[in-house]
Amino acid sequence: MALKAAQKQIVAKAQARAGVVAPRVVKGSRSVRMAVQARAFNAVQIPLAVRRVCGSASRRSNMVVMAAAVKDGAVLPEGRKLRVAVIGGGPSGACAAETLAQGGVEAFLIERKMDNCKPCGGAIPLCMVQEFDLPQEIIDRKVTKMKMISPSNREVDVGKTLSETEYIGMCRREVMDDYLRKRAEKDGANIINGLMMKMEQPVADGPITIHYNGYAEGSKIGTPATLEVDLVIGADGANSRVAKEIDAGEYDYAIAFQERIRIPDDKMKYYENLAEMYVGDDVSPDFYGWVFPKYDHVAVGTGTVVNKTAIKQYQQATRDRAKVKTEGGKIIRVEAHPIPEHPRPRRCKGRVALVGDAAGYVTKCSGEGIYFAAKSGRMCAEAIVEASENGKKMCGESAIRVYLDKWDRKYWTTYKVLDILQKVFYRSNPAREAFVEMCEDSYVQKMTFDSYLYKTVVPGNPLDDVKLLVNTVASIVRANALRAADSKSVDVNFGSKATEEFQARATA
Ligand SMILES: Cc1cc2nc3c(=O)[nH]c(=O)nc-3n(C[C@H](O)[C@H](O)[C@H](O)COP(=O)(O)OP(=O)(O)OC[C@H]3O[C@@H](n4cnc5c(N)ncnc54)[C@H](O)[C@@H]3O)c2cc1C
Repeated sequence: MALKAAQKQIVAKAQARAGVVAPRVVKGSRSVRMAVQARAFNAVQIPLAVRRVCGSASRRSNMVVMAAAVKDGAVLPEGRKLRVAVIGGGPSGACAAETLAQGGVEAFLIERKMDNCKPCGGAIPLCMVQEFDLPQEIIDRKVTKMKMISPSNREVDVGKTLSETEYIGMCRREVMDDYLRKRAEKDGANIINGLMMKMEQPVADGPITIHYNGYAEGSKIGTPATLEVDLVIGADGANSRVAKEIDAGEYDYAIAFQERIRIPDDKMKYYENLAEMYVGDDVSPDFYGWVFPKYDHVAVGTGTVVNKTAIKQYQQATRDRAKVKTEGGKIIRVEAHPIPEHPRPRRCKGRVALVGDAAGYVTKCSGEGIYFAAKSGRMCAEAIVEASENGKKMCGESAIRVYLDKWDRKYWTTYKVLDILQKVFYRSNPAREAFVEMCEDSYVQKMTFDSYLYKTVVPGNPLDDVKLLVNTVASIVRANALRAADSKSVDVNFGSKATEEFQARATA
């Protein structure tokens, strides 16, 4: 009874502010009711319904949520904050929910599997540890040495230029994602264990209805439930349902395969702070194979876009190349997942935004996506917090566009450079030999590590830049000569068409 009285009071207050009459009870068929309600949405800006959201939530199992039709920019009724649903609790979703909650927005994070173990190498740059204030305990290993291994098994040690405090962090995703979600919850985000099934798009300025199956603690049987919100952030990864709901379009993707292998202690000692990258037609026609050290095992994997059906063959080749160093190992987990190759044609529709893998933010060449996921989740949430003046005003597509513009301006060059590097250096074995050879150069190492670890292109020494350019051109020429002798060819498109296509997609 007290709850009903409170709800009535909120509705009455909002009506008084808007200076309108109370919504009528509408009779008739569902479509008639919706049409009348839609007119009401357009005519007035008042709370339309008060509903109880069922299903399981770790913080609140029975949440009272006000559905409202409010135009962008309008001040929200007293006692009602902007409500944003974040679908997916990986790095992009957890960081989005955290930023929203910190910024005064009512954030609902819906994650289907709280102990999700995302197939992933788990390598993160130093700037992620710093920017996202990650505690040391979620970092299994600090990699300070990297071996680049060419098709002919020539090994080049990379990492000589790192200072004592610099490293690549190696994480297990089940540990990192859990930490980020719990932190978001501490900051006030509502965490819901549920599988998002579908979304109903708003009628005019009305709410978006999320349909999900909620899981009570310890139960695998979902209970259908709904949640009404003002905005949705799709952070649900490469197979995003949110992207499908908004017809975001497809992207090319790589399939990545990984085995977690527990190896004998003496072998693990070798990988203590060392990661390996293998390149060659045998391990992947367009990517690289890796051995990354984890807490008590190594992750061995590879990926490809161009020949997905042969992924197991490439994985076998990667394992063979690392055989001596991993001998006696026991496979404890086998995993595979798509990796997006470029942003989706559409990353926003109305009040729905995409971030992380759902948007397609993985870099070519390195296949890195964790930092970009976390960063895009945060940037999208920041734009919403700012436009809504800390959850007090309604906001929508224009706020999301601010995030997309900032994102494209900040990272377009990074994506493009890595795209070109992949096309130049991963296209044939001679090119890969040249690439590994180039990695021996300290200046190349410093530039590569600085841009990976800090995500900024640090201005270099002009003389060294010239030397690097000459070396690069020489390597490409040599690789091309060898490739011609090999008489294999792969199309490489550096022209303005490719650039235009990318830009068109990025700004769509
Ligand atoms: C084998 C492999 C190795 C990789 N190695 C690296 C690496 O070393 N370093 C790196 O930076 N990147 C790596 N990546 C890429 C990286 O894993 C992704 O870019 C990153 O996980 C993207 O984060 P995200 O939060 O956007 O999506 P995800 O991490 O995919 O998270 C999506 C979340 O949404 C949840 N979800 C999905 N659908 C629903 C739904 N309908 N309802 C509710 N919840 C849902 C999922 O359970 C999941 O928790 C690798 C990828 C693969 C496949």
